Amino acid sequence: MRKRPHHVVVVGGGTAGCVLAARLSESSRFAVTLLEVGADDSSYGEVLLDPRRTPEAWTGHAPAAFTVMQGVPADVAVFQGRVLGGTSAANGMATLRGLPVDYDGWAAMGLDGWGWDDVADTFIAAERDLDFGSSSLHGDSGPLPVRRWRRNEHSRAHVAYLDGMLALGEHPVADINDAGQLPGIGVFPATIDGHARRVSTSMAYLTPTVRARENLTIRTGSDVAAITLDGRRATGVVLRSGEHIDADEVVVCCGTLWTPHLLMRSGIGPADHLNAHGITVAADLPVGSTMSDHLGPAIPYVYDGPEPGTGGPAQALLVGASNGIDIDYHAFPITATPDAGRARFLLAVFLLRSGGDGTVRFGSTPDDDPVVTLPSLPSDAHDRYRHAFDKLVAWQQTDAFNKLGAEQQDDIDLAATDAVQQSLERHLLSYAHMVGTCPMGPVLDADCRVHGIDGLRVADGSVMPTIPSGNTYLGCVMIAERIADKMKASPR
Ligand SMILES: Cc1cc2nc3c(=O)[nH]c(=O)nc-3n(C[C@H](O)[C@H](O)[C@H](O)COP(=O)(O)OP(=O)(O)OC[C@H]3O[C@@H](n4cnc5c(N)ncnc54)[C@H](O)[C@@H]3O)c2cc1C
Repeated sequence: MRKRPHHVVVVGGGTAGCVLAARLSESSRFAVTLLEVGADDSSYGEVLLDPRRTPEAWTGHAPAAFTVMQGVPADVAVFQGRVLGGTSAANGMATLRGLPVDYDGWAAMGLDGWGWDDVADTFIAAERDLDFGSSSLHGDSGPLPVRRWRRNEHSRAHVAYLDGMLALGEHPVADINDAGQLPGIGVFPATIDGHARRVSTSMAYLTPTVRARENLTIRTGSDVAAITLDGRRATGVVLRSGEHIDADEVVVCCGTLWTPHLLMRSGIGPADHLNAHGITVAADLPVGSTMSDHLGPAIPYVYDGPEPGTGGPAQALLVGASNGIDIDYHAFPITATPDAGRARFLLAVFLLRSGGDGTVRFGSTPDDDPVVTLPSLPSDAHDRYRHAFDKLVAWQQTDAFNKLGAEQQDDIDLAATDAVQQSLERHLLSYAHMVGTCPMGPVLDADCRVHGIDGLRVADGSVMPTIPSGNTYLGCVMIAERIADKMKASPR
């Protein structure tokens, strides 16, 4: 007799959730139900597809859950996409892997299968590199089309940045994903098609053929209230509507802020915090206690438009080294929607290695949005930002910058000794790379199974035990690909 398929409920149809649902449903051994609180991303059209409109997504015109993260020296606002495709449907599309040393660090923590030699092939298999094709570092047949922004797609601010930094002698980098070429100045690879249109994980993985599979059910508008447990075994989920859905296995993919919130609502988290909210503790684990992010100041500039650039918000990128650390920061202009004939950009500097003590906790009640606190800045942060600021000051003296005619919109003298402190106080920004709230090690095993609870895994940015030295979306894809492989390989 044929065995009944293993029913997996994937909670959260975001960056990782779409990948996981598509990969698991390749096998008839699985029946997959994907539950997403938001709508199908196809229902939003141009605002999500056209990279020129991405800044609109960041100012409230896209389906998103906004959160203010409390911190020192300032609070910052971030969001997670609330739509099929999740944050990959509204992010900056930058497609970086991080460095081999990041993943070797995971393996050194005892997390088998997560060293660079393990994950590199997964990164390669996920992409269809439209510039480099198939090579030892790139793939030509994965679901994600990846290419570098062309010069005629850059905004004038990015052209000035690229040219100015090259004139200062920064090393030109053709492939930012090749650690051997760093540090230097280059162009972000982006997950866009040949016509410079965004390709979210929903578009790349949940193709019409995949959606037509009989063993895959996609339900949008499905807000999961809690994971149901029988003792120490997950039995399914309950939606806010009251509907129960049974499962042989539940995989939570709600992202770094909402995954810990859902686990805690379900009795999995720090016992003292759950007790304080009257929640019965099923597993006392340090959920929501170890969040990392890439943080830094973003100085505002304006210049005369019109802005002919057609590309996305983040194109030319300085990957810098300071303080003896190989790759320490990203510095780049983030262009914004033109305003009354004037174009705007933020000149951002983000440290790539910083503390992991940010938290996600309940608000007044477990039904309120989570309260998030930022990780603290490391004690040597000022010196490290200063190193990057010196390069930005030099850039402001170049012909390329002068030709752009940009004006800094505040009175901070970036060369002054207190410039870093003032910039952090006035212009602190999150790169929105929050990770690590349900890390492998303390909360999950190396197969992303929740310690002490059977039938429950997590697969998204929250599982990262340390933050990679690069943008985080592709890491979430890699994690989902690897967890799907592990689940397919696992005997039931
Ligand atoms: C403005 C911005 C720009 C960024 N730019 C870049 C970039 O250029 N490059 C890069 O690499 N990274 C970027 N990032 C970060 C990157 O996009 C994220 O790290 C990554 O996409 C997170 O993926 P995830 O799978 O962890 O979560 P998400 O993609 O956020 O998915 C979580 C999903 O779960 C759903 N969900 C949540 N709660 C529930 C519930 N209770 N029931 C059902 N569904 C639920 C959500 O609606 C969402 O669809 C950016 C982030 C932001 C906010």
